[in-house]
Amino acid sequence: MIGTTRKPLDEVLQALEGKEKIVVMGCNGCAKACKTGGDAEVADMAATLTGAGKSVIWEVTPERTCYIQHTTGSLAGHEQTISDTDAFLVLGCGGAAQVARQALDEMGFVKPVKIALNSVGHLDTIIAGKLAIEQCQECGDCVLNETGGICPVTKCAKSLLNGPCGGAQDGKCEVDPQRDCAWVMIYDRLKALGEMEKLYVYRDPKDYSKSNKPRTLVIA
Ligand code: SF4
Ligand code: SF4
Repeated sequence: MIGTTRKPLDEVLQALEGKEKIVVMGCNGCAKACKTGGDAEVADMAATLTGAGKSVIWEVTPERTCYIQHTTGSLAGHEQTISDTDAFLVLGCGGAAQVARQALDEMGFVKPVKIALNSVGHLDTIIAGKLAIEQCQECGDCVLNETGGICPVTKCAKSLLNGPCGGAQDGKCEVDPQRDCAWVMIYDRLKALGEMEKLYVYRDPKDYSKSNKPRTLVIA
């Protein structure tokens, strides 16, 4: 799940300056799960924009806005509305906003696509519906087989491949004492698995060429 948070309203209104007729587009995928871009938040934003003097001419929430088929499918049949609007405001991640822009381009519309959210990472574990935790940064060179299934790139504050750094106190990270030290977790896990020898293996620096941007995937 891509985590998202709301931008301050001032920033959203600034992005929409000079635009009067607005389409508010949400996302029934990750943004809905984050309570930042589902139907309820789209309606909320539409009401807020109306209160700020804008004219919201359509509210639409594709199933997953980052899937261009879903977004294009939601836009199909609404060409007149799209033609009439001054701007789209997307309540989704950066990927969703760019896919919305691409879908509009492919339909022959050159429309401003603004974003109402900030994307804050790939968050996979949700606790009690309140707290989402990042597990993986998709580095392209996974070391989980060597680290007991615990990612040091994501969970160590310094992304150390040969930890620990020496600053942990009582199993907590020196950078953020609220969090467990990733390398203490890795140590405990490898010990429990009987794989302590893996701690003696020096890991070469990560091959960050595998994460050169923009990344692409050829699907065979
Ligand atoms: S090492 Fe960590 S960031 Fe890289 S792919 Fe594996 S889990 Fe993801
Ligand atoms: S204390 Fe542990 S988690 Fe924190 S930076 Fe050092 S090795 Fe990484």
